[in-house]
Amino acid sequence: MGDRLIELLSGAERILVFTGAGISTASGIPDYRGPQGVWTTRTPIYYYEFMTSSDQRRAYWQQKMEDFETWGAAAPNEVHGAIVRLEEAGKLEAVVTQNVDGLHAAAGTSRERLIEIHGTNREVECQSCRKRSAPEPHFEAFRRTGEPPVCECGGFLKPATISFGQDLRVDDLARAQRAADRCDLVLSLGSTLAVNPAASIPLYATQRGTPYVIINAGPTEHDRRFAVTLRLDGDVIDIVPPAVDAALQNSSR
Ligand SMILES: [Zn+2]
Repeated sequence: MGDRLIELLSGAERILVFTGAGISTASGIPDYRGPQGVWTTRTPIYYYEFMTSSDQRRAYWQQKMEDFETWGAAAPNEVHGAIVRLEEAGKLEAVVTQNVDGLHAAAGTSRERLIEIHGTNREVECQSCRKRSAPEPHFEAFRRTGEPPVCECGGFLKPATISFGQDLRVDDLARAQRAADRCDLVLSLGSTLAVNPAASIPLYATQRGTPYVIINAGPTEHDRRFAVTLRLDGDVIDIVPPAVDAALQNSSR
């Protein structure tokens, strides 16, 4: 089964990698939506609530600070590293990730090739002027004062993730669509492919007949419903790094 994966990776020149929570579990970050996830105990705060209620903004920053203290120091793992090696070998079209942990960027995937379709916790964004800044000073201030931080322009600051009820960024969707149009292989890693519209991105490519590989521990929404070239069931950390290394050795021969 690994041989077919190595063969597909060896032959590809413009890979679109689509990633979900399963690639960050080896970094100690649980699946937010899974049985260990925060949404089993927490009430989601919708974007309009954040924008209209100071109590909700305070509750939101409290949740984000707890997450930051728990997972803020998480480091990328061998799967993130293998994706960086694909880019260094000139075989990567783009990474589209549903994860908000910032670990692709931390591993070294370049900005031009990275589309964080649900945003990132590693930056804070002003909801008025869109200016971005590092999160640490804002969490420090929030810890000290208990007041949700505001931008110098007066706008509300929020970690740069897409909140419940908030639209995806049009630019990011357009970039993802372009990557899907250009790629010659789609690799979906550690995603149940259940959250749309993000999960529809691999399908833009498969509609053109692009080979589609899904690697995930457990079933996905695309199993048996769409044309899947290769389906491997298992932990991405066991499967992806060795296959990428073998493929890059083939390619350099
Ligand atoms: Zn601002």
